[in-house]
Amino acid sequence: MADGFDAILIGAGHNALACALHLAVNGWRVGVFEQAAVPGGAVKTGEYTLPGFRHDWAAMNVSLFAGSAFMKQHGAELMRHGLAFVPVTHPFASAFPDGRWCGVSTDMSATTDRIAALSPKDAQKWAALMADFPARAEHILGLLGSPMTARPLASYAFKTWRKLGLSGSADLARFLLQSPRQWLTETFEAPQVRAMLGAWGMHLDYAPDVAGGGLFPYLEGMAGQAFGMVLGKGGADTVTRALVAAIEARGGVVSCGTPVARILHTAGKATGVELADGRKITATKAVIAGTSPSALVRLTGGTTPAFDRSMSAFRHAPGTMMIHLALDSLPDWAAGEDLKRFAYVHLAPSLDQMARTYQQALAGLLPDEPILVVGQPTGQDPSRAPDGKHVLWLQVRMAPGTILGDAKGEIAATDWATAAAPFADRVLAILDRYAPGIRSKIIGQRIVSPAELEADNPNLVGGDQLCGSHHLSQQFLFRPARGHADGSTPIKGLHLTGAAVWPGAGMGAGSGFLLARKLAGNRAGR
Ligand SMILES: Cc1cc2nc3c(=O)[nH]c(=O)nc-3n(C[C@H](O)[C@H](O)[C@H](O)COP(=O)(O)OP(=O)(O)OC[C@H]3O[C@@H](n4cnc5c(N)ncnc54)[C@H](O)[C@@H]3O)c2cc1C
Repeated sequence: MADGFDAILIGAGHNALACALHLAVNGWRVGVFEQAAVPGGAVKTGEYTLPGFRHDWAAMNVSLFAGSAFMKQHGAELMRHGLAFVPVTHPFASAFPDGRWCGVSTDMSATTDRIAALSPKDAQKWAALMADFPARAEHILGLLGSPMTARPLASYAFKTWRKLGLSGSADLARFLLQSPRQWLTETFEAPQVRAMLGAWGMHLDYAPDVAGGGLFPYLEGMAGQAFGMVLGKGGADTVTRALVAAIEARGGVVSCGTPVARILHTAGKATGVELADGRKITATKAVIAGTSPSALVRLTGGTTPAFDRSMSAFRHAPGTMMIHLALDSLPDWAAGEDLKRFAYVHLAPSLDQMARTYQQALAGLLPDEPILVVGQPTGQDPSRAPDGKHVLWLQVRMAPGTILGDAKGEIAATDWATAAAPFADRVLAILDRYAPGIRSKIIGQRIVSPAELEADNPNLVGGDQLCGSHHLSQQFLFRPARGHADGSTPIKGLHLTGAAVWPGAGMGAGSGFLLARKLAGNRAGR
């Protein structure tokens, strides 16, 4: 075997990188092995259309990372290695087919004026929710940041009961179980306000009628109002580049173009990995797989039947298609110039439309009217494109990983290589309804189908951007499976990290940091 490390990490996703950095800070010698040519997984940026136009391949909104516990502890070091953010004061808006729009800006009166134009009662409700947010956030974020193991969970439950009492705790539990539609219709009367917030559920796979999803429209709405949004300066890859540089500065190794083919274990203990090129590398303390649960089973060649069964049964969510556009100028929104100022414009006209789209994608159909997240990063950070030019980040939610048909009956192809272009054409036609003339502004285009997302990063099974559905049966202590929400496996020294492990998808570095603190034996961290 080649010379080894204390810990080997499989995949250079941001969770594995965060884990590696924390371990390196604690004196571990770490080696990260990534199959792709560049690190970052879902967090990378490149010139995917034309020279000088920098597009975020996948994640664009880095707010979760900026506000994470990991950033709090290691942010100063990352900044020394070039990490830089762009704060956004107009985080998100929705445009509607009748030419109206609504949006959230950090200026409270700007937001409430817009909501009041749709419903004065909803504007009052928004102000009341915001006033209550700090107290409520303490309980919600406490849960979302907690390890899902017995002692921390018991401590969380006890503290919450002490503070809120039985009825307050029960109300919180009810809120956590609500679907987006339940919470939104109980809370707001204007359909546009409901749709504007409901669109956030679609970033995960919380379509309007999925239990447990009401939390996300609430959190994103309140956080957008309170803190705005954060983008990476020059691209989301500022996060990846700083993580890699900090790991290397501490003597760690990040090796790209080196797929891991096998996890080596003997007598129930992980001993290292075998790379696709046949090299074997030893790990004395830990092998940490930043992979999907099903890949973990393949890489180990099998552990215990019960564990392998639960990893193989882990369910993936519908896929995503990305369209990267290089533009002459920002879209001319029919709803008005103001929309150019927003980082995200959601084209998600109603809760019913979102529910229909989700159902179609689940049934394997190309949706007739997919939900669009239109990211306008160069409106916030002009450094990503040549002077006066722009990039547009179009996230198409949802799309089936395996195509069985077309809900509109127009696209006959059932393979993504053929279906991607006509489906992208449908997407651009929708965008053109809201931003007339958009096609004439396009000077470069790159379509990334769900199949291509997976080919680039095998964790995104079927283009599932979450690496596993977030529905309640795979959430909290069930992510990825009961008894393993801390990333533990039946093989000693082998751990799973990444979006499939609690607290799940998004750029919060949650599972990587929780695991690193556990392994380094310093739960509060150094
Ligand atoms: C299209 C899209 C848009 C998104 N937008 C946002 C957003 O705006 N904001 C946000 O917070 N989140 C967003 N997300 C979600 C977020 O980016 C991901 O949940 C998160 O980055 C996943 O991190 P991870 O650590 O699990 O690893 P991943 O990013 O999934 O990376 C895993 C890495 O492991 C590598 N790998 C896998 N198997 C092997 C192997 N056998 N050998 C070697 N390497 C291997 C892969 O190549 C990959 O590089 C988005 C995701 C996608 C796909």
